[in-house]
Amino acid sequence: MARKKPKLIKERVPTIERPAEERVHDFKEVNLGYTFELAVKEAERCLQCPAEYAPCIKGCPVHIDIPGFISKLVEYRDNPDKAVKEALNVIWACNSLPATTGRVCPQEDQCEKNCVMGKVGDKVNIGKLERFVADYAREKGIDDELLFEIVPSIEKKGQSVAIIGAGPAGLTAAGELAKDGYDVTIYEALHEPGGVLMYGIPEFRLPKDIVEKEIDKLRKLGVKILTDHIVGKTVTIEELLQEYDAVFIGSGAGTPRLVRAPGVNLNGIYTANEFLTRVNLMKAYLFPQYDTPVKVGKKVVVIGAGNTAMDAARSARRFGAEVTIAYRRGEEDVSARVEEVAHAKEEGVKFVYFVNPAEFIGDENGNVKAVKFEKMRPLEERDARGKRKIEGTGEYVTLEADTVIIAIGKHPNRLIINTPGLEVDRRGKIVVDENLMTSIPGVFAGGDAIRGEATVILAMGDGRRAAKAIHEYLTKKREEKANA
Ligand code: FAD
Ligand code: SF4
Ligand code: SF4
Repeated sequence: MARKKPKLIKERVPTIERPAEERVHDFKEVNLGYTFELAVKEAERCLQCPAEYAPCIKGCPVHIDIPGFISKLVEYRDNPDKAVKEALNVIWACNSLPATTGRVCPQEDQCEKNCVMGKVGDKVNIGKLERFVADYAREKGIDDELLFEIVPSIEKKGQSVAIIGAGPAGLTAAGELAKDGYDVTIYEALHEPGGVLMYGIPEFRLPKDIVEKEIDKLRKLGVKILTDHIVGKTVTIEELLQEYDAVFIGSGAGTPRLVRAPGVNLNGIYTANEFLTRVNLMKAYLFPQYDTPVKVGKKVVVIGAGNTAMDAARSARRFGAEVTIAYRRGEEDVSARVEEVAHAKEEGVKFVYFVNPAEFIGDENGNVKAVKFEKMRPLEERDARGKRKIEGTGEYVTLEADTVIIAIGKHPNRLIINTPGLEVDRRGKIVVDENLMTSIPGVFAGGDAIRGEATVILAMGDGRRAAKAIHEYLTKKREEKANA
């Protein structure tokens, strides 16, 4: 059906957001998204650029037909359930976790970056529309309905695949392979699947019941998930290759980088990984209902300015602390999502720029009490990632802190990368070919394990690509066997 020419509505329809003074006292979700009526109003703003030119589709790493799904909301506005089912069907063709990506994708650098509405007004709020479709579908059971329409048509292939890691890369690969008819088993080191979605990103940004529901969908597709199974300890990749026809590594980049400065081992200094795992996975914010405590002081300094730093800072604010983010570069180079930075500021997190930790200062009991920073100066030159280079000034500033959280990045997990025959680069990232196959035949990899710390949607995109490559690899194996 020909798409109707939309009216030009310059202003974005705002989503419903909880006020900062209320939300800073709890871990409930900050942004409440759209209602159906508001979603349709926002959808009407989309100019329906033809799919072959639409800059939003080009900007989305998995190339969702964005005007296609948005148009369904408008076309079936008189029948919300149908509108959502049709829209979800379009999204699912490329993205199996839209409730998650709608919430956490850096849309401003991806789908929304070059939205043509930006030339005359606000860009279309694609992320929130995607989230709306996924949330409405989940709440009304429309996603299950759609899933059951897919499941009976699965033709079993009689081959099996082991997936290492239940983060977005592993979950996506598992879902795609299960839909293709393979027997899929995920090996997950932690006691819950979800990867960073579960242990890293806090509840106030991504409610855990949403992630659980997405994982439930995989179980309904027949995917087996073995938790508390550490590959490299419980079982090796060589052993997996004897039991399965192919292996996908989606083990992420969970080993935190540390600051090399005196005093880094003082009490009260956490890596963001440990802090956020305690808060999210072990539910320390519900202590003593849950038995893992987390000690948060009165003055917290968070070192770093990515999404992890923002999540740690905003979590610490919810424990009542005064929180400062200390970053060695300037505001223009902050890499966290724009929305998270805005939320952090609204919630009272302070920012100090151009400071690099030089020493952690402790008291007589070995507890941190301050951080001494060297002041940095920006240079004209930029590095390979486009960030401004900096240099030390030889001048220092000290910030009081009884808790410090270090959030300066992460490396891939050692246990996996020490596998004999598995090629990794000097940063520990697994080396893959254009089909995401590693140096070990039949072993594929994707997500942060090959990229270093990246994004959810890139990890999911890898999971999808790898599933396609594994399908081709296993189809060839089946044909060779049949012709033997
Ligand atoms: P992960 O999500 O890390 O999952 C890997 C899984 O493998 C984990 O469950 C791990 O336990 C398991 N595993 C590791 N080793 C083994 C082993 N030996 N055996 C078995 N299992 C193993 N990205 C965004 O797009 N938007 C955001 O807003 C955002 N915020 C973030 C906030 C935080 C705090 C963090 C840490 C990251 C954030 N990211 C964000 C980045 C994003 O979450 C990651 O890029 C993404 O999760 C990578 O997916 P993955 O599947 O490759 O790895
Ligand atoms: Fe935008 Fe991410 Fe959705 Fe793609 S997956 S349309 S980048 S929110
Ligand atoms: Fe709609 Fe913007 Fe995409 Fe054009 S670029 S189709 S206006 S969302």
